Amino acid sequence: MEINSIEKGLVIDHIKAGFGLRVLDYLNIDKTGGMVALIMNASSKKHDRKDIIKIEGVTDIDITALGLLDHGATVNVIENGEITRKIKLSLPEKVVNVITCKNPRCVTSVEPALPQTFHLVDAAKEEYCCAYCEETVRVADIALE
Ligand SMILES: [Zn+2]
Repeated sequence: MEINSIEKGLVIDHIKAGFGLRVLDYLNIDKTGGMVALIMNASSKKHDRKDIIKIEGVTDIDITALGLLDHGATVNVIENGEITRKIKLSLPEKVVNVITCKNPRCVTSVEPALPQTFHLVDAAKEEYCCAYCEETVRVADIALE
């Protein structure tokens, strides 16, 4: 399958197969008007199958949140038809306003103005802990709004 190359934009490569839609959903970029292509189950040398997202016209996205969603992915920034930057994603040490604390006794549920801050506590288990209480979440269980 051939997808037109883009002049300026982003190519998010090596997304875990089946995760592309979730990433796209989270990035919420369908409203920008540029061309967006989601390629599912592309063949890959590294893994068996992968998803790829191509976004035209956008070079600025929330890399931190993307790292949380799929830290195995890479982001290629394209300018003038060439890759000008390759960003390797990783699990962020700290995320703000991405994960919402589910603990009803947490201070964030009575103080909505407080930023929802979570810290990485266990990279192997992909576990994050709320900055205000003891609530922990695993990346796999995060429900994105
Ligand atoms: Zn909390």
